[in-house]
Amino acid sequence: MTFPWEEVDWVLLDMDGTLLDKYFDDYFWETLVPEEYAKRRGLPLAQARQEVFARYQREEGTLNWTDIDFWSRELDLDIPALKAGIRHLIELHPDAEDFLQFLRQQQKKVALVTNAHWKTLDLKLNHTGLLGYFDRVVSSFDLGFPKEDVRFWEILQTHLNFDPRRTLLVDDNAEVLATARAYGIKYLFFKAKSSSQLPPEKNSHFPSLLSFHELMHGQTTATSGRR
Ligand SMILES: [Mg+2]
Repeated sequence: MTFPWEEVDWVLLDMDGTLLDKYFDDYFWETLVPEEYAKRRGLPLAQARQEVFARYQREEGTLNWTDIDFWSRELDLDIPALKAGIRHLIELHPDAEDFLQFLRQQQKKVALVTNAHWKTLDLKLNHTGLLGYFDRVVSSFDLGFPKEDVRFWEILQTHLNFDPRRTLLVDDNAEVLATARAYGIKYLFFKAKSSSQLPPEKNSHFPSLLSFHELMHGQTTATSGRR
């Protein structure tokens, strides 16, 4: 199929895993933080991992999940400083900049919509130099709700004034896409290849993209009948 670009005004893009390689976040939360936690408490690494992962699980889908100040308090670690220490690992997906340039050529309005905390967002946008591509940058922390909550989309609409039927969202989180669908956003794509170090994720509810080039060249690997 050819993507109907003429039917889209606003393009909403997630950051981590969608534009940026999720390897950075996975390494940070799954490896570095448990290691630092183990050192700080004098625990064996296996036990530290267990404790840290149990705490993560409790906060999934909430704003705490991405609130690095929350995690600094919760784990008694300087999370922003630890992140800044590995900033060299922050990488764009190889297709991201091509797509952002394509959207600019197509004269689409483009918003970055992310659950990332402002401190993380600043670090990543500064490191990657992406800021200039966006008409708007919106963090869930501005709106008071994560993208998994329909109120995020309701408030976002009042800020951007987009027509949901003429809006495209790409995200690597299927729950976020489901919420956006419930709200009424028409064009939804699952970014299946979120980490360079992991195989693409499967999702049966949304058409999947391995690369943005599929949208640019009008070829999509629609894995679902539910369009
Ligand atoms: Mg993401």
